This record gives sequence, C-alpha cells and structure tokens, in this order.
Amino acid sequence: MNNWRRPTALKAALILCNLLLIAGVGTLLASRGRHASPRAAAGDAGLPSILLIGIDTLREDQVGPSATGASSRTPHLDALARDGIRFEQCLSTAPWTLPSFASIFTGLRPYRHGAVGGDRDFLSERHTTLAEHLARAGYATTGFAGINYLTAQFGMDQGYVSSPPRATDLTGLDQAGSITRLTGDFFAQHRDGPAFVFSHYYDPHAPYAPPPPWHRKYYLGNECRPGEPLTARIMSSEGFRGENAGRGMYDWLAGVTDPAFPVAQYAAEVDYVDDHVGRLIARLKELGLYERMLIIVVSDHGEHLGEHGFYYTHYLPYQEAIHVPLIVKLPGSAGAGRVVATPVSTLDLLPTTLEVAGIAVPDTLDGASLADLLLGNAKPPHRDLLSEQGSDPDRFCKTLVAWPWKLMLFREDGRERIALYDLDADPGETRDLSADFPDDAARLAGRLRATYDPAAPLGRGAAGVRANLGKSDIRLLESLGYVHKPPATAAGEG
Ligand SMILES: [Zn+2]
Repeated sequence: MNNWRRPTALKAALILCNLLLIAGVGTLLASRGRHASPRAAAGDAGLPSILLIGIDTLREDQVGPSATGASSRTPHLDALARDGIRFEQCLSTAPWTLPSFASIFTGLRPYRHGAVGGDRDFLSERHTTLAEHLARAGYATTGFAGINYLTAQFGMDQGYVSSPPRATDLTGLDQAGSITRLTGDFFAQHRDGPAFVFSHYYDPHAPYAPPPPWHRKYYLGNECRPGEPLTARIMSSEGFRGENAGRGMYDWLAGVTDPAFPVAQYAAEVDYVDDHVGRLIARLKELGLYERMLIIVVSDHGEHLGEHGFYYTHYLPYQEAIHVPLIVKLPGSAGAGRVVATPVSTLDLLPTTLEVAGIAVPDTLDGASLADLLLGNAKPPHRDLLSEQGSDPDRFCKTLVAWPWKLMLFREDGRERIALYDLDADPGETRDLSADFPDDAARLAGRLRATYDPAAPLGRGAAGVRANLGKSDIRLLESLGYVHKPPATAAGEG
C-alpha cells in the first residue's frame, strides 16, 4: 500500500545538491567485485559504519502519512526516509521471524538456507552471514536481539566478533530502551569505525502491550465491555486452526470483546518503536556519525489484523504478512528522498550492503544488489519474488510475485491448490483469478515449481540442525505464538 508522498520538485532540487555526496558513494559502489581488505585497511578506507534496524512484525502500511493526508504516525522513520531512499514494494521471503531474518543475513531463500522451522530451524554454519562478511572486512560487529530466534540458539550469532547478539529482557517493559541504549553505546565505543550493529526491536509482535504513555494512545474505551469474547471469534475463524497457535498465544486477549482494541494497541506499538528510532538517530547525530553512516530499516514480516481469517499473527504469505517497509540511508544521504517503486526482496539487503561498503559480493546469492536503484540510474529488473512458509513436504505455501500477478501454491496432506491474484487491482488478495486466467496461472505455477524440488522442500541437502532448546525456551516461544511440534508435522509459525 502506498501511503507516502512522492518527492516534490523542491525535493528533486535537494537531491541535485547531493550530487557530490552521491559521487562519493559512487566511488564506494565502483569497488564492486574487489576483494575486501583486512581490518586495518578497512579503517583507512573510511568504510561507513552500518546500522541495520530490524523492526519485527511491521506492516508497510503502518509507516508514513496516511493516504488521506492525516499527519504521520511515524515521524522519525519518515525523517530517515527523507534522508534516504524508500522502497514502496519490498517483500520478505517468509512470513515469520527465523527464516526471514536468516534470508536477510545470508541473501538466500529459506529453501536454500534451511532455517525454516520444524527440525531444520538452525542456521547452518556453512552459510556466510552479513556479519561474517563485514567482520572479515575489518568491521567491529555486534547485535542486540529482542527474541532468541536471532541468537546463538538458532545459529544466528555467526559473524558477531565483538559480542554475539543476545536477547535482551524479553519480559521487561523497556526492552526497546535497552536496545536503543546498547546500540548507541557500541557506536560511541567505535566512533573511528567501521562498526556494524544489528538492532532488533520486537515490540510490534503480539502480545501488543505498549508501555505508557502509548498504552492508551489510540484506545480510550472499555475493551472488556459486555459482548462476545474476541478469542471466541478468533478460534472460530476460517484461518484459525489449533496447530497454528502456540499454547497460550491468545491469553493476552482474555476478557477483551472489542476487536478495535488489539488493532489500536498494535498501532501504538509501532509508534513506540518509531520513537526509539528517533532516539537512536539523535544519539548517532550527537556522536557525529549519522551523516557518514549506512542505515537500513526493514521488517522481517507484516501481520494479519483479521485479513484472510488470521488474527494478530503472521502465518501465510499474503501481502499483509510479507509486504514490509524498507528504508536505506546512504553515507552522505546520497539520493535523499528518492522513492523506488520497483518490487524488491529482503534478499537484496546483503548484496546491497556489501556493495555500498565496497566488499566483494558473492555470485551465489538469491538476492541482487539494489545499488543501481539506490542511485536512480537503473531500469527496473524483471524478476520473480518468492516467499514461502512451512517445512513439511506435505504442508506448505509458496508464492511467486511477478508484478502485478501473485501466484500462491498451497500443499496440504498431499493435495495441492493454487490461487492467482492481481496485486494492482486487488491488493487485498480477495479475488482468486486462477480460473479466469488459467494459462497465466499454469505458467507462473511452473516457474514457481522450478525453484524447488516438490519432493524435498528443504532442498539441496540443507543441513539444518535442530536448535537446542530448554523447556523454558519452548514455553516462551509458545506464548509468543511459535509452534514447536514433532518434526514430522511441524510447520514454523510466529
Ligand atoms: Zn518476526
């Protein structure tokens, strides 16, 4: 959904004023294909420090001013977008945390990296992560995670040489505060750079519990007024199946009857994280680092807020669950204010980051560098964008977007069905056109099937290793809506 304003003529003039800075970034980008130098040389080369902000569960339509012209709810993300480049159509590779972030960190589709849930939920050491590439080039690297899916427990600590990503206090109200402070402190300790931090804000993920003063920002009524319990509506909905929901997943809605309440609380959580983005940017400006940095903001997936029968979770790769915001602020704010309409994938972030930093980009990736699109001098590439959910050979959904077509292929208990949507005419995916356009559906389904082996959805011997979880870890993940069932039936969700 496009809720942002396009650059004005004045903005275009400001972009021209950045030409010299663009030239500087162009020098960096021109190093495409060169091998990176070791740590000492990295500092000498003035490589940009890099901040990757991953905001969990952030729908694209939650960011920026509304289409009706109302004032923006996310002023700090908007300000970053004015200094950077915003991508209108960025799709994640999976509608849940582990495979999606594993794709961001490896540039590989879930089918190839293998961290897809079930018994293959550990990111194999044989993959080279973004942090590993940057560490080899001389960066100090660390991460701060809001959920243990992004820590050593799931193989997601690869490449963090200064300190591995650790989950901050998952139950504390000030988790975002900790991440903001720790991120700022790390950059303060590495002012001479180059440094890389992955900062993961988990707050928009259910249960939605924004802290004061956000907790009543959009809802002042009585959410427990007499009426049908909301949980009863959810559990009788088309999308709800017992196996989709972890134990206690909806406990936080006990007594709630008003469906407007969780939607309001989700919006308030987004605003709360936006506030933290503002605090973090302010800290970087105080340190004198902001202008020279590469800063990327992305989400791992969106959220169903009742669409397609799913409530307050992210289960199937419909657009509300995979269309995510993407903002890239280049060093020197090159290209400031540019808006890119070309559909892109979160797969593209690793090669993009490496190219901006002047580090050789491997040719084995599924993603492609967005450097040319960032500088506004490329024609949109035509390519299929893929997303997938599920690790069971008999139970999964895979999608292919060839704009404006979106093909969804569902397999369940040995049966297969497809659905075809026109994202231009029907962005909410409400009308399956597969019977009206059977040739297009068959053509796209063939292209989708060619990307994986239907008999082995994990494919290519993806040597995933089951994560080593204790009972308390499993209870926590279940309470957050994640599923851990025996490998034969498991399908990741969360
Ligand atoms: Zn997530």
